[in-house]
Amino acid sequence: MIFDKILQIYDKYYICSHCLGRMFSLLASQTTNQKRGESLLLSLTMENHRAFLSNNNQEQETSIINLKLLAEKAKFLPAQSVLKIEGIEFKIANIDQPCYLCNNIFLDIEPYGKEGVAFLAEIEFNNFLIGSTPESQIINREDRFKSEFGLIEAESFKSHFNRVVGKSLTYKLNKPPEFNNPDLLIIYHIGYDSFNIKLTIKSLFIFGRYNKLMRGIPQTHWYCQKCMGKGCELCNFTGKQYLISVEELVNPEFMKESHATDSKFHGAGREDIDVRMLGRGRPFILELRNPKIRKLDLLKIESKTNKGNKKRVRIQNLRYSNKKEVINLKSEAKNTRKVYKSLVLSDGKLSKEEFNVKLRELKSSIEDQEIHQRTPNRVSHRRADKIRGKLVYKIDGKYVKPNLFEFKIQTQGGTYIKELINGDNGRTSPSFSEVFKMPLLCKELDVLEILI
Ligand SMILES: [Zn+2]
Ligand SMILES: [Zn+2]
Repeated sequence: MIFDKILQIYDKYYICSHCLGRMFSLLASQTTNQKRGESLLLSLTMENHRAFLSNNNQEQETSIINLKLLAEKAKFLPAQSVLKIEGIEFKIANIDQPCYLCNNIFLDIEPYGKEGVAFLAEIEFNNFLIGSTPESQIINREDRFKSEFGLIEAESFKSHFNRVVGKSLTYKLNKPPEFNNPDLLIIYHIGYDSFNIKLTIKSLFIFGRYNKLMRGIPQTHWYCQKCMGKGCELCNFTGKQYLISVEELVNPEFMKESHATDSKFHGAGREDIDVRMLGRGRPFILELRNPKIRKLDLLKIESKTNKGNKKRVRIQNLRYSNKKEVINLKSEAKNTRKVYKSLVLSDGKLSKEEFNVKLRELKSSIEDQEIHQRTPNRVSHRRADKIRGKLVYKIDGKYVKPNLFEFKIQTQGGTYIKELINGDNGRTSPSFSEVFKMPLLCKELDVLEILI
């Protein structure tokens, strides 16, 4: 019986009506915990008032004990008023005694909303979610309390707190809560006497395509292999293996405009450091972490980035993206087709006619065929040593000089083009060198197109 439990509770502890309601939160809906608590105390007062007015002596005696308990220990005004009207004396031992369970947190939730709003003043967002981590003291006390009185219909302190503060913030900020993928996660660390707020801001993802117009820069920054970023003599105390990267040329304007704390560059595959990326460019997604500004002028960022990086890097087709697209970008990289242009140096000399004969041979033995590539030595430190089958779709060749040729090659993403040309000591087969029956060397390589 609920009423008996409530009398037992107040015989031992004072708790506020919010906390009383929370202990029975699973019962009845479309109401608040405070209303639940108030209604329970009011019903209890009414029932005992009825008993007091009855002609049954025993009922009357019990009702006076109960009404006094409600007036003195639950500090419930309607019960105090009944006793006053009936001329029964009562004494409230400790009028300022705070709620045993929440230390009056739920009686004045305003500071939590107010500080929350102040905390978010400089941040741009569309929606949010409230979370909380009450100190273990609060949780443990509440757990012991529930088991002491066998309360099994209670709601947790946390979800009660999150809901009331969430409501207050929704109203103050005029922004909706978002439960699945909020722009902001606002976490309240709550103690009995103090609290603080921590914020997690959802990353902002920007899709674009980049051209790398010069050779010799990696896509993302590499730490110095000797000092791993700490700075040493080898890297001139920069901590970096290469002075600059596509990532570092692209991200400054985004960082500046979004006020992010950090960024990560996700490319749809990557070209070698000495390979240019031409044509429509390679898709990438820039992840901006903890951005204070979410609405960016992408055209302005694009033009400023391009102006500052003439002949080095160019970006285009910027638009907003999301985490899911990053995952797709990575997994689809190997399903793409790529078109390369390569300048190839041969060991021996060929006449134009000899070259054309070899080119025909090359087309018939490699075009639309699967070639087999064992992981090249030069990358074996970061990729598993195994044999991969790759499709070569199309080869076009142009005679430049007796020992210099130009090829346009369309292949499946992930093909090692330099090795397709030089054969990598038989690790790639068939190869251009194998078909030409002479050592060939890829001197320059450009990615012309990435087809998805
Ligand atoms: Zn309370
Ligand atoms: Zn170093």
